[in-house]
Amino acid sequence: MEGVVVGVCAVLGLVFGSFANVVVHRVPAGRSVARPPSACPSCDARVRPMDNVPVVSWLLLRGRCRDCKEPIGVRYPAVELATAALFAAVAVRFGLDWALPGYLLFAWTLLVVALIDVATRRIPNRLTYPLTPALGVLLVAAALLHGEAGVALRAVLGGVAGFGAMLVLALISPRGMGMGDVKLAAFLGIGLGYLGWGHVVLGLFGGFFLGGIVALVLLAVRIRERKDFLPFGPYLALSSLATVLIGRFVIDAYLRASGVG
Ligand SMILES: [Zn+2]
Repeated sequence: MEGVVVGVCAVLGLVFGSFANVVVHRVPAGRSVARPPSACPSCDARVRPMDNVPVVSWLLLRGRCRDCKEPIGVRYPAVELATAALFAAVAVRFGLDWALPGYLLFAWTLLVVALIDVATRRIPNRLTYPLTPALGVLLVAAALLHGEAGVALRAVLGGVAGFGAMLVLALISPRGMGMGDVKLAAFLGIGLGYLGWGHVVLGLFGGFFLGGIVALVLLAVRIRERKDFLPFGPYLALSSLATVLIGRFVIDAYLRASGVG
């Protein structure tokens, strides 16, 4: 049964990975994700349904447009495979559980947000505004279906806490952190809060830790100057995703080591 769930989620991941490519490409440009249908970026020829099968079509076409033969970036199948891997990992973590849809949404959103933030240094409101309440509804419903009202409340408070903590940090040090990160923290806080307060702390502070280390390394090798703006979104996303998947082992080990657990 477990294997079936993981397999179904991996296939779902390929499909939603294909959609992620559309969102990453169009949302920063303010375009509709529904229409027009996908077209070749070089010659504008419409992508035929048979050429729109995730990964497979790209391999069969050897990474080129059927019409103009211009190369199609390897990032398209790579994003599809990454989404499939993430969805499979979430399925392994949660199994067939009410919380599974919420965490598939969590993983998909963070992949998309990280890719957009790296490319454009922005986290679009068009993603955080609808997807944050959607995640809240999915996880509150999951908690209530488990009969755990306390968990539902903690997920909501986690979102409020994430937003509040990040807002304070953004006001103290406006450089390097934008309101996009503050809004993203509300989304992250909901997903982390459902699992526990330890997860909220680990996920959000892990992001700063990770971002800080990378920033120091880049400064040390002089790839970046101190004044350059480093997007924090991808680090927050990566840290929060890792915390959802394996944070419980880290937290357990910490509690054991400190003699609490
Ligand atoms: Zn073409």
